[in-house]
Amino acid sequence: MNHNTSDQNTQPGLDISIIVPVYNEEENIADLLQETLPHLSASGLSYEVILINDGSKDGTWLEIQKAANNDPCVKGVSLSRNFGHQHALFCGLHFAGGRAMICMDGDLQHPPSMIPKMLHAWKEGAKVVTTTRISNAKTSWLKKTSSRYYYKLFTFLSGVPLHEGTSDFCLIDRQAFEAFKDFKDANLFLRGIVHWVGFPSASLAYQEGERKKGKSKYSLLKMLHLGLTGIISFSTVPLKLGIWAGLLMSAFSFFELVYILTRYLQGATVPGWASTVGVVSLLFGILFILLGCIGIYLADIHNCLKNRPPFIVEKIVNIRTGDERKDDRY
Ligand code: UDP
Ligand code: MG
Repeated sequence: MNHNTSDQNTQPGLDISIIVPVYNEEENIADLLQETLPHLSASGLSYEVILINDGSKDGTWLEIQKAANNDPCVKGVSLSRNFGHQHALFCGLHFAGGRAMICMDGDLQHPPSMIPKMLHAWKEGAKVVTTTRISNAKTSWLKKTSSRYYYKLFTFLSGVPLHEGTSDFCLIDRQAFEAFKDFKDANLFLRGIVHWVGFPSASLAYQEGERKKGKSKYSLLKMLHLGLTGIISFSTVPLKLGIWAGLLMSAFSFFELVYILTRYLQGATVPGWASTVGVVSLLFGILFILLGCIGIYLADIHNCLKNRPPFIVEKIVNIRTGDERKDDRY
């Protein structure tokens, strides 16, 4: 039905794979499927819904098994521990057999009613359909503000244009996934990768839903980590900041020394040590920030060199062995 897909690695006859990473979402699974499946049936395309249990501590896996037993189109993958949202998404993409994959959250904040619009854009030729979030009234001030400035900074540093409200709610054609499925990034930032690979794309805006049940699994620390991951994996500008800081400070020191020397020659020594301490601590501060930047990149290289798998699967349901994409590391 779709005309723009490379047919490598697809599951014969399967059009759409919905990928949903879930972490402690036992209360949301049934509602999510109830709201999502009608849109898929109505599309006239063949489909599967893959739920990735990202090391949940509640009854999420039981709920997935229950749903999978009732409907063969619902499939489950359970990871050996909590690998994080991005890695769970990547796992789902590897298990997907469809000619296009739609990634969405399990708490219904990504409205399933957008699925027909995403499929329409795909049929029109887009190989990547991204979305931007229009925040709901309950979205915290911190989340809205950080999103606004973060994506500006990200775009400035990386040259990859991400807009305010960019999320991981997107459609990825198999051809686009084939382009990045072997990426070895130790820390994944899928919303950046999806833009980076190129291909004809479309962007849709959606009104963010309110979390159906339970609490957000993205703590402030996790959000900061994801933000930093994005910048580290897409930009080396922070590594080069040292050059600019060094040049600036050298120029400043040069003029200061010329001034002090001139005053000394005029017999008017510049008194006091406070300014010296001020300059020294400022320089040390900058030095440590830059050392930290180097450390972060070094850690990233270190993690990549270890070449550990991005996720480890413990169990699967409704997925036939061999359905997973061939990759030696899994
Ligand atoms: N999630 C996950 N692993 C994690 C954290 C979150 O699989 O370590 C899932 C979570 O269950 C949800 C999606 O990722 O389906 C988005 O998380 P959440 O709704 O908590 O984030 P928020 O919308 O608050 O940013
Ligand atoms: Mg959410």
